[in-house]
Amino acid sequence: MKTPYVRLGALAYCGILAAASIQQACVDESCASHSNVKSASLLQSSEAKTHAQKDLADTKTLNPPVGSTKELKSQTEGTTENFFNTVEADLLQAQPWMLEMIFAFGILLAFLGFCLIQTTATGNSLSGKIWGAVEQMTATDAEVHSKSKRWHQQYSECFKAGGVLCLDGGTGSEVERVATQLKPGDEAVNAAGWSCVQWKTHPDILRGVHLKYLQSGAKLVIANSYATNRHIMKGAGYEHLTRQATLAAVRLAREARDAHMAEAGPSDDSPSLVAGSMSCHPPGMAHGANMNDGQWPEPAVEKKGYEEQARLLKEAGADVIFIEMVWDWKKHGVLAVKSAASVGLPVVISFTVFDAKSCDEGMPQLHDGTFLEDAAGELSSGEGWENVVALAIHHTKLPLVLPCLKAMRAGGWKGLLGAYPDHGTFEMPHWRFEPLEADKILDYVSQWVEQTNCQMVGGCCGIGPETIEKMGKWCSSYNKKKCQRR
Ligand SMILES: [Zn+2]
Repeated sequence: MKTPYVRLGALAYCGILAAASIQQACVDESCASHSNVKSASLLQSSEAKTHAQKDLADTKTLNPPVGSTKELKSQTEGTTENFFNTVEADLLQAQPWMLEMIFAFGILLAFLGFCLIQTTATGNSLSGKIWGAVEQMTATDAEVHSKSKRWHQQYSECFKAGGVLCLDGGTGSEVERVATQLKPGDEAVNAAGWSCVQWKTHPDILRGVHLKYLQSGAKLVIANSYATNRHIMKGAGYEHLTRQATLAAVRLAREARDAHMAEAGPSDDSPSLVAGSMSCHPPGMAHGANMNDGQWPEPAVEKKGYEEQARLLKEAGADVIFIEMVWDWKKHGVLAVKSAASVGLPVVISFTVFDAKSCDEGMPQLHDGTFLEDAAGELSSGEGWENVVALAIHHTKLPLVLPCLKAMRAGGWKGLLGAYPDHGTFEMPHWRFEPLEADKILDYVSQWVEQTNCQMVGGCCGIGPETIEKMGKWCSSYNKKKCQRR
């Protein structure tokens, strides 16, 4: 995928098609306006060639040269014309398709030149868009998964074999919990950007939380970049640290993975994944407050913020991008997903559903009124969503998860499905943790897996390492039957 060969092949194909059209048009018009010599040549007759040469000779006889310079010029023209007439006739006699190839080659060269000029002149050019369209058209399922080496490994070893991947639990809320335990009164959250600067204020605790999840059995940790895009950082007064924030968040998660791999040794031949988080969390809003209180920038600014963050996540080495807190699909979700897909990494869309009533009625609805089934149907069409490798439900109450997963299947989504709900409640400005019985959460996990073929399970806010450890063991036991290398 996306190799120069694919691109050149596509271009050559376009060139040949164009040449064939020209040739056809030429035949349709019988090439009536062309010279007698050319018309004669198209009849592929050696006799015609002789007549044409004779006509030329007659023309020269009727208009004899006067003076030595004119004589020389006339001789040169005659020689040149004869030469071309001979070559053309020889070519046509050899193979008619050779002319088509010459046409195609010419058009191909012209198109390549055009693309080069466009790319040099604008950077973001028409040719780039054409490349993009060609690449999207030629993408296959396996190619999308293989864009990230580690994602592809998990896809091949676990998902394709029917296994279930254990995700981590809540990160921002866990950093907050640990920080408060270590130092009472340490809130570890920003009033306007929630976890946006935990990478700066509590890097060791954050790295430790990732490591704890990996030690508990998680095979994928989500970097704490949930709130580090430019518009949230700006709302919290940290716009100047935007680039640094996303890079640092992924780096800390990768350091935790490295530490875990060093601990686990060579027995663990399946490295855990580090996902980058991008969220539809509104700027200027404390975590858990009313969604409508957010101060959204103009859509163009919001889009740039997502695109920038997606590029930074890729640069930092994220294996996959999770678009989180998709509670408004039409205005914000689509924008974030398209922006994330533009960098080429696999994308997981994590929807958030608050409306218990709609779940009870079997038609879970997002905050913007979009039915989850409809959103899943739109994504199932595949058109323009080639990089989307999984749909998930997160930051949603446990009892609502199963109806949501079922709705996505009802909408036609046949790909990977995931669930990492929250537990507890938000009481300004902190998450209030509530006990979660092991049997209860594992009952839920069994239902998701058995009834909807859910293949990624974990937790969000309020679900910590203790619960992930139970989920990890459940997955490990389940996967022994399903995965080849577990
Ligand atoms: Zn959450």
